[in-house]
Amino acid sequence: MSTSSTEPLLEARDLVAGYLPGVNILNGCNLVVHPGELVGIIGPNGAGKSTLLKALFGLVHVRSGSVVLQGEDITNERADTLVRRGVGFVPQNNNVFPSLTVKENLEMGCFLKPSLFESRFEYVSELFPRLRERAGQRAGALSGGERQMVAMGRALMLEPSVLLLDEPSAGLSPSLQDEVFLQCKRINATGVAILMVEQNARRCLQVVHRAYVLDQGRNAYTGSGRELLRDPVVIELYLGTLAKATGG
Ligand code: ADP
Ligand code: MG
Repeated sequence: MSTSSTEPLLEARDLVAGYLPGVNILNGCNLVVHPGELVGIIGPNGAGKSTLLKALFGLVHVRSGSVVLQGEDITNERADTLVRRGVGFVPQNNNVFPSLTVKENLEMGCFLKPSLFESRFEYVSELFPRLRERAGQRAGALSGGERQMVAMGRALMLEPSVLLLDEPSAGLSPSLQDEVFLQCKRINATGVAILMVEQNARRCLQVVHRAYVLDQGRNAYTGSGRELLRDPVVIELYLGTLAKATGG
């Protein structure tokens, strides 16, 4: 693939990180996201997938190793600094302000550069027409699928070059899950690189360019979505049980 020769956009190098003193959750994670790539992270519950995204975004302290954005070390940088530098993050839970309207949520996403609001609102409404229709409604009154659109829209307000998504399809009906994966492809097609954690492993592997399988805080396997979908070990260890657990 031609992307292999370009400079990585985002890199994790031998990341070790954790919450409690002396307990490492990430035990040496490595990953690369190239410009414009759609990359997945799958793996069992508790593997450290959310911790990895949080470590990339400066929300979990990195004990050793480094996070590199366009060749510059951003390890343990503050989240607002990272947002300014083009990294967007959508956490798995509590990712909208429920008492604010949809428009106000999007304005919050723009608070570092309010002058961008009108043009970014246009971009986000093209991706998610529903958000324009619901602009004046409180986010807390929306359906789960719509709230996910608000959360992704908010993270897109500052023109990120890479978007980190933690289980965007979790808790949604199968048809809404499909919609979320399509939305990720559409966002990615506008040039935004995406690194997405997904419990819905099969669907994730079907849409991404490449993926990493994370197990016990280490990346166990990596390859294109197609390769991993066909890999007997990956099927046996990670797709069979996950598919059963998630009904996919
Ligand atoms: P995944 O997203 O792959 O399901 P997580 O990254 O959420 O896994 O969790 C990995 C491990 O880190 C789990 O053992 C979990 O209990 C632990 N963990 C997650 N969040 C915290 C926290 N805030 N404090 C302490 N331990 C945590
Ligand atoms: Mg998680």
